[in-house]
Amino acid sequence: MLNIVLFGPPGAGKGTQSEKLITKYHLVHLSTGDIFRANIKGATELGTLAKSYMDKGQLVPDEVTIRMLESEVNKNPSANGFIFDGFPRTKAQAAALDVLLKSKSTSITLMLALEVEEAELRKRLLLRGKDSGRPDDQNPEVIQKRIDVYNNETSPVKDFYTEQGKYKGINGIGEINEIFNLLCEKIEAAK
Ligand code: AMP
Repeated sequence: MLNIVLFGPPGAGKGTQSEKLITKYHLVHLSTGDIFRANIKGATELGTLAKSYMDKGQLVPDEVTIRMLESEVNKNPSANGFIFDGFPRTKAQAAALDVLLKSKSTSITLMLALEVEEAELRKRLLLRGKDSGRPDDQNPEVIQKRIDVYNNETSPVKDFYTEQGKYKGINGIGEINEIFNLLCEKIEAAK
């Protein structure tokens, strides 16, 4: 199996690159943000809970997020592999993912991290907010909170994968196809 963690701050381009990677490598795309938004749209209990954190730019608690992710992985027993997009965002989530994959006799192949500086992220997110309909992309304070949460809580997840020799950083500024090619090079080298 090819299991990729696509990592990076909000606005780094994870969603865009995930779409291209799943087409090329026939992987199942699991975006925790997308799953939460689908639950909000469907007015589920999980959606109501997630919304109360997402609207403030905070992380949904680990216990809830991990349980949801596990259930999504379990729904795809014959997957070629997964792209985890927006997960793991804490070291506890990364550790839980390792345990889950191990129970399925597989593991993370590599973490691809899109690196984009903060000023560019703020610009991209506000621009995306104009047509994404995402409330968390439209409010500069919520955007800043998400970037701060990334720096304080999520960025340490890099160390988790660096220790396993799986961390690969990629410059996330440039042309979409150029960035995609860089990602593919790293994947080919890790396969
Ligand atoms: P995203 O679409 O990845 O930018 O996520 C949007 C929001 O969903 C985040 O700001 C968090 O509130 C929540 N979220 C998404 N993924 C996670 C996660 N792995 N852990 C906790 N909260 C998450």
